[in-house]
Amino acid sequence: MQRSPSQCTSGAVFGINKPMLEIPAIRADFPILTKTMRGKPLVYLDNGATSLKPECVLDAERAYYTDLGANIHRGVYEFSEQATVAYDAVRAQTEAFIHAPDDGHAIFTKSTTESINLVAYGWALKHLKSGDEIVITEIEHHSNFVPWQAVAERTGAVVRFAPVAEDGTLEPGGFERTLTAKTRLVAITAMSNVTGYIPPVSEIVAAAHAVGALVLVDGAQYVSHHPVDVAEWGCDFLAFSAHKMCGPTGVGVLYARENVLDSMDPFLFGGDMILKVKKEGTTYAPVPAKFEAGTPNIAGVIGFGAALSYLSNLGLKEIAAHEKELLAYAYERIGSIPGVIVYGPADLANRGGIFSFNIDDVHPHDVGTILDREGIAVRAGFHCAQPLMRVFGVFGTVRASFYVYNTREEIDLLAAGVDAVREIFV
Ligand code: PLP
Repeated sequence: MQRSPSQCTSGAVFGINKPMLEIPAIRADFPILTKTMRGKPLVYLDNGATSLKPECVLDAERAYYTDLGANIHRGVYEFSEQATVAYDAVRAQTEAFIHAPDDGHAIFTKSTTESINLVAYGWALKHLKSGDEIVITEIEHHSNFVPWQAVAERTGAVVRFAPVAEDGTLEPGGFERTLTAKTRLVAITAMSNVTGYIPPVSEIVAAAHAVGALVLVDGAQYVSHHPVDVAEWGCDFLAFSAHKMCGPTGVGVLYARENVLDSMDPFLFGGDMILKVKKEGTTYAPVPAKFEAGTPNIAGVIGFGAALSYLSNLGLKEIAAHEKELLAYAYERIGSIPGVIVYGPADLANRGGIFSFNIDDVHPHDVGTILDREGIAVRAGFHCAQPLMRVFGVFGTVRASFYVYNTREEIDLLAAGVDAVREIFV
């Protein structure tokens, strides 16, 4: 008998005033955390790359295949109708999760990267012309950097950069100084995948709107760990990935409001995105179908719905607070080891749970390899953020990125791993 999504342990214990996370109960929801790696208990600290999946998400995906199996939107039989209802329910759930306004839509894509490319192809190539300006920053992931360079090459638009300080934060007032009457689009991450730095999104949106520009927020790192209210941010686009938030790979989201989506061209053409097809021409379906040609990742979207329920049950505020505690502990425990250089602002107020560091001049890959021997999974390299590596003047860093199931004991193990690296290399 499969467990239904609601049967995942919530791990949220309600105290007098606020829920507290029961980390051991939460860990029990993630089958992979019982595994060993290199013969050691797995210490998974690579959540910035992708998160682990709780049993209820795996069950929900499997239940689609075992109990329904049918394609959506085009069947007139019961199982197809049920699959359609399940898929569309996750769209509504996603919109509620980010507090989308009534005219806001969640389009399902395959990833944050595809969501950003949908804006690049569907909006930017259609609306930008030579001399228009796109403003981004050097803290962006390549997914929110390279598409804008490509758009600029094709349209003659210019990419400009809001200034970044040495610690990887945005210079105060720098965005305002960079925006001009020619700025048509601002594309900004809500949280750096290298340092966990959280820029002031609402302020940036207000400044961009004041010059008439639209704003795309890359929420790949932020949405999985913090409560999000797109209406409060006021952004025009939000892109994020299910796989970084306990959901399956192969599902991404692009949020935008109806008038913006109506002004965009489809990016993929084919079945399911049409109203009428004739030899003379085709009319497209209204949003969101207009942007979801072909069979989508039905099982993945249904699994994503279970992930959203799982995170909501735990509480996003509580998740963020737990990770902030882990970050502070990592600073205390590892930041104090001689030779360890930590990247990002020292003030943890605007930081998510990402701890990027180097050990003297030891190559990050060497550090990652030693940690791997201890069963510790971290990311080592440039993290798809070469421009930010240049700001820091390094080839790369070692990145430990935390999620709700991580513990202080795991940070102690990471600290022991850092000591082991120092014994060998320093
Ligand atoms: N943006 C940021 C900030 C990221 O961290 C990532 C992935 O690490 C992406 C975009 C791309 O996400 P995906 O690989 O799911 O498309």
